[in-house]
Amino acid sequence: MGSIADSSLDKIREAIRNSNKQAAQGRPQYLIWEDRALHSDYEFIACPCGGLCWCKRNGCGGHYRLKEVTFERFLETYATLWTPNRRALRQAVLGGIRFKGRGQNAVEPLQWLSERWPSILGDVRRYDKCGLCDSSAPPLVTRVGIFNLWDAKIWSQLYYDSLIPFDYESKRKIKNAGYPDPTIDFLATNRELFGDLRKFSDSHGLGVRGLRDLDSPWTVEPQYRKSSVGQPLSRVVDKIFYIP
Ligand SMILES: [Zn+2]
Ligand SMILES: [Zn+2]
Repeated sequence: MGSIADSSLDKIREAIRNSNKQAAQGRPQYLIWEDRALHSDYEFIACPCGGLCWCKRNGCGGHYRLKEVTFERFLETYATLWTPNRRALRQAVLGGIRFKGRGQNAVEPLQWLSERWPSILGDVRRYDKCGLCDSSAPPLVTRVGIFNLWDAKIWSQLYYDSLIPFDYESKRKIKNAGYPDPTIDFLATNRELFGDLRKFSDSHGLGVRGLRDLDSPWTVEPQYRKSSVGQPLSRVVDKIFYIP
């Protein structure tokens, strides 16, 4: 996989389709959980941007934003999406019960988050941009920073339309495609990926909706509900590089 801007439309479509196909076959069924998370925990708000913003100039219909959910709810969705050790992760975060296994490094950042939840949720919900906007990253993230892939998954859940998640394998591919290492400078990686997505849209005349529709999981998994507003942008980028 080369960089997004240098790839053909067919190649990007195929990469995303392949990612969805693998996810639909895998266990746990990531696509089903992603669909549930999207419909239960997120809302789609009208695009607030001025006419000069790239998104607005490219037919933006709105942005995904986290609903006013409790921390327990956020944690449940996080655990469901990202680890098979769901119960163990929840118990570790909420009850301090130690566990070893996939997701153990998420415990500390999730506890950090739980201690600050109302204030962080407020900051998250005040941010109304998407990854394609001209503005830089959400100010909260710039302040706190991202150190590992479990942090990135947290921030991506908080800012579903603006920050990508990554994993060991997708990190390798992202670096091979010429982007900065996300564990060294996550915001630079994120910025360059979205910058390339804008270029990719310009080259192929896609617009915001066309970019969202590059991800169409319902074509590989019939249980997945077709979205009337398109898929979240972070997952469009993620699926170009991530194969379960
Ligand atoms: Zn917009
Ligand atoms: Zn915008």
